[in-house]
Amino acid sequence: MPKTLKCDVLVVGTGIIGSMAALYLQNAGRDVVLLERGDISRGASSGNAGILAFPEIIPIPAPGIMKKAPRWLFDPLGPLSVPPAYAPKIAPWLWRFWRASAERSFRHGLKSLMEINRLAAIEMAHIAAMPELSSFISKTGTLDIYDSEASLNAARRDWDEKEKAGFAFQRVDRNEIEELQPGLAPQFRHAVFSADGLQVSDPYDFTRAIFDLVISRGASLRKGEAQRIDAVGESTIVTLENGDKIDADKVVIACGAWSKKLAATLGNIVPLETERGYNTTLPVGAFNLTRQLYFNDHGFVVTPLSTGIRVGGAVELGGLDLKPNFRRAEAMLKKAERFLPGLKLEGGRQWMGFRPSMPDCLPVIGTARTTPSVIYAFGHGHLGLTQSAATARLVTQMANGDETSISVDPFRPGRFS
Ligand SMILES: Cc1cc2nc3c(=O)[nH]c(=O)nc-3n(C[C@H](O)[C@H](O)[C@H](O)COP(=O)(O)OP(=O)(O)OC[C@H]3O[C@@H](n4cnc5c(N)ncnc54)[C@H](O)[C@@H]3O)c2cc1C
Repeated sequence: MPKTLKCDVLVVGTGIIGSMAALYLQNAGRDVVLLERGDISRGASSGNAGILAFPEIIPIPAPGIMKKAPRWLFDPLGPLSVPPAYAPKIAPWLWRFWRASAERSFRHGLKSLMEINRLAAIEMAHIAAMPELSSFISKTGTLDIYDSEASLNAARRDWDEKEKAGFAFQRVDRNEIEELQPGLAPQFRHAVFSADGLQVSDPYDFTRAIFDLVISRGASLRKGEAQRIDAVGESTIVTLENGDKIDADKVVIACGAWSKKLAATLGNIVPLETERGYNTTLPVGAFNLTRQLYFNDHGFVVTPLSTGIRVGGAVELGGLDLKPNFRRAEAMLKKAERFLPGLKLEGGRQWMGFRPSMPDCLPVIGTARTTPSVIYAFGHGHLGLTQSAATARLVTQMANGDETSISVDPFRPGRFS
């Protein structure tokens, strides 16, 4: 016999966005129920690189990107790939991505990312100051490494924008590179160092700690899959796969790459796709890694976690159903071995995760078209961990009918309609 549960706020999804939103809502006095269909916090938020990348304000759809893309696509294991079976499905998304790379749209995206990332830095500082969570965040600094001076110069416009936005960094030469990361292959002579770079010790442990904290403070967990949402009079009813219903005052949709189907049940057609990413986590001690290393010309990062050394990145526009192609993870690992001589490759764990991505590289944060009691919080692409606390702040303000810290207009769900 199907049951109906009544609650104040239902948060669907226990990734970093759902867990962080639950924490903020709870801090604002709301009674929270979390709904999760799978293992707790085991979506994209469990295996990412753990970088709090506030200076990443340059939208990926940038002028000239479509000239670079074919070169990357030519290499089947390169930083960007489209499996042939998925090419027709991703075409409309790519068309919107191309449109977002026009100068005017790019400028709009840049400003919007700057605003949300600034808020994200402020909000994450509050999280880092919480006794229960402070041990998960540390300042390691970030080293952005380029193959040549020409390649660093080609990125100058991006660095100029970051400087204008107030992010501090310095160009470093070979001697300084060696000091900052001993043992990096000698071919790397050009890099940019951001001393303020922040690292999460392990993204799963961090997300799980937030989830556990919210539960320990009185929130509850329901296991099950939300299948549809209906507005019935004053009520918002979420129906689960077994027929049970949850009647909530507010519903937050934080289902990452799987959010599109639920939004569609309320009439919101959002062009959400997934950029699949791969990595390998090598055991602790695989290399004496001092900080995050971005290999900018190769589309991957190496990060020091409490649980090991994570080597990964890449973008595969392959949808939610195709089988993973772990040769991608292997290709990055092989390069990492060349770039970090002595890196021990034994004992690695491979992973593939689904970045929830919108064509303009901006998240969806806003209320449903016809049902203001439903708040969307998904589509954070490459920056979900980074933008989680800002998103949680905005979601909570919307749920409580307060003015939002920044305009959420750039993130409105209907912007592509
Ligand atoms: C290789 C890689 C590296 C990355 N590195 C970084 C990084 O360094 N820094 C950064 O900021 N970001 C990074 N990201 C991006 C980041 O991981 C994502 O943006 C973020 O994890 C998205 O979080 P989420 O909570 O929206 O989704 P998820 O973590 O995927 O959580 C969604 C949850 O919703 C649940 N769910 C889905 N549908 C339903 C339903 N119908 N009913 C109930 N539950 C449901 C799922 O089971 C899941 O638990 C990276 C991503 C990848 C793939």
